[in-house]
Amino acid sequence: MKLILLGAPGAGKGTQAEIICKEKNIPTISTGNMLREALKNGTEMGLKAKVYMDAGDLVPDDIIIGIIKDRVAQPDCANGFILDGFPRTIPQAEALDNMGVDIDAVLDIEVADEAIITRMSGRRVCEKCGSSYHMLYKQPKVEGVCDNCGGTLVQRKDDHPDTVKDRLNVYHNQTEPLKEYYSKQGKLLVVHGQEEVEDTTRLVREALEDLQ
Ligand code: AMP
Repeated sequence: MKLILLGAPGAGKGTQAEIICKEKNIPTISTGNMLREALKNGTEMGLKAKVYMDAGDLVPDDIIIGIIKDRVAQPDCANGFILDGFPRTIPQAEALDNMGVDIDAVLDIEVADEAIITRMSGRRVCEKCGSSYHMLYKQPKVEGVCDNCGGTLVQRKDDHPDTVKDRLNVYHNQTEPLKEYYSKQGKLLVVHGQEEVEDTTRLVREALEDLQ
C-alpha cells in the first residue's frame, strides 16, 4: 500500500502514520523527521533546511524531492509506504508522479485551524526517534520520556503559536491545492480528525477498508 497523509500541521498525520505503518508493516516516510535528523547530525542539507523550518516556511522543492527520490528507492519501501508531510506543493506531487510512484490513496485529515492552534501547544516529540505525543491526548507512560526509545520529549521550536499561524498560512496557500490535484486523480479520501486519537484511527481504518 502506498499512501499519502495530507492535512494541516498538527492534524495528526504523524500519529496516525505511526499506527497504520505498524499494522501494515510498512515504513512511514516523514520528510519533517528526516530534515530534523539531518539537522541534528549537522549535515549541510540540515543546516540549509533549518532557516526555512524555524520560520515555518517550506524547504525548497528540489531539496525535498531529492530526499524522497532516494528514500522510496530503498528496499524496505518495496511493499509500500506511508508518506507523512510529502508532497506539500503541486510541484512535489508532480515530481512524485514523474518518479513513477503509483499512489493508492491520499488520506486527508481535516481539523479546523482554531483546534490546531490549541493542539500544537501540547504537542511533544521525542528528540531521539521523532515519535509524537500530546500532553492531553497522547501521554507517554512516564512523563517526558519516549515510550518507544526512552528519549527525551521536547517541544518543537516551530510549534510556538506565532510560527504555527505562519505554518497554517503556508498550508492553506501551498498544500491545500493538493486536495483538488488528488481528487481529480480519484484518490482523495477525507477523514475528520477527532479529539481522541483512537476515534480518528477508527475513521482512518474505515476509509482504508475498501483499498485492501
Ligand atoms: P513537519 O514535521 O512535517 O511538520 O515538517 C516540519 C517542517 O519541515 C515544515 O514546516 C517545513 O519547513 C519542512 N518540511 C517538511 N516536509 C516538507 C516538504 N514536503 N516540503 C517542504 N518543506 C517540508
